[in-house]
Amino acid sequence: MDHTARLPTFDDVAAAAQRILGHAHRTPVLTSSRVDAELGLRAYFKCENFQRVGAFKFRGAFNALSRFDAAQRRAGVVAYSSGNHAQAVALAARLLDVPATIVMPLDAPASKVAATRGYGAEVVTYDRYTEDREEIGRALAAEGGLTLVPPYDHPDVIAGQGTAAKELIEEVGELDVVLTPLGGGGLLAGTALSVRALSPAARILGVEPAAGDDGRQSLRSGRVVHIDTPVTIADGAQTTHLGELTFPIIRREVEDVLTASDDHLVDAMRTFAATMKIVVEPTAGLGLAGLRQIAADLPGARVGVVVSGGNVDLDRYARLVGPDAGRQG
Ligand SMILES: *Cc1c(COP(=O)(O)O)cnc(C)c1O
Repeated sequence: MDHTARLPTFDDVAAAAQRILGHAHRTPVLTSSRVDAELGLRAYFKCENFQRVGAFKFRGAFNALSRFDAAQRRAGVVAYSSGNHAQAVALAARLLDVPATIVMPLDAPASKVAATRGYGAEVVTYDRYTEDREEIGRALAAEGGLTLVPPYDHPDVIAGQGTAAKELIEEVGELDVVLTPLGGGGLLAGTALSVRALSPAARILGVEPAAGDDGRQSLRSGRVVHIDTPVTIADGAQTTHLGELTFPIIRREVEDVLTASDDHLVDAMRTFAATMKIVVEPTAGLGLAGLRQIAADLPGARVGVVVSGGNVDLDRYARLVGPDAGRQG
């Protein structure tokens, strides 16, 4: 990222909300009396599994591509992603008539690769354990004059992701605590901008996979900590570091980062299926898994949880949530 890039503010989230209006879905907020009874609080789940492409990433991608000038639209967009950002950029590009090239890991879920190609994007694959996707993306951008839209560390992406929490608070009112999954921090940073503007007293927490707690380490040490690609079923949060834009916002607004094991993510997926009758991907279980750890200290609280996506191959879903579930994913 460009070190001089300006940190986005809530005004940018509000502008993004106008740009995505009529293009992104206004997703439902679900509640469950069973979950509330279990936890002793009132939880509001913002269900981005129902967003276009099945994840909140469409918000940031559409906002970013909407801001391209004529030359950028002609030359096209390039993005690198383990899945949902790829589909989001591919669909936003098709809707806005921009050619798209997407850099995806060789082991990305088949449904995500197929969906990305289905939106008309060109897919370039790489090995996520040995190659650097950011380098590949930058090289493609330099060669073809394409504009790189990164998955989280971009002001327009962060602002777009913040529109989910804006809708949530506008719908249900002020909250005591808000939790979101944490990968590279676009969702958490954008959420923090909305929460601080619309529900200023709320505590804001991120939840990341226990296998890769770089976000927690970064928050506690005051600098961006880099780790190896974590091995977890939460493929939407297999990031190795926070961003140069997401970290300062998270550091300013976020109280703490919780972690969740793969087993706890599976428990959360089962709870969403059993109580709210919804299919969520492993990464989207992070918020509920984190909430379960702190619920005893939050009696009667009004809690917002962003359920980030629902893209998981059906066979993999069945393996994960079924009896004798192996957790290899
Ligand atoms: C990308 C993604 C995340 C993590 O978002 P960041 O902005 O990278 O922190 C969480 N859940 C799902 C479903 C995602 O696609």
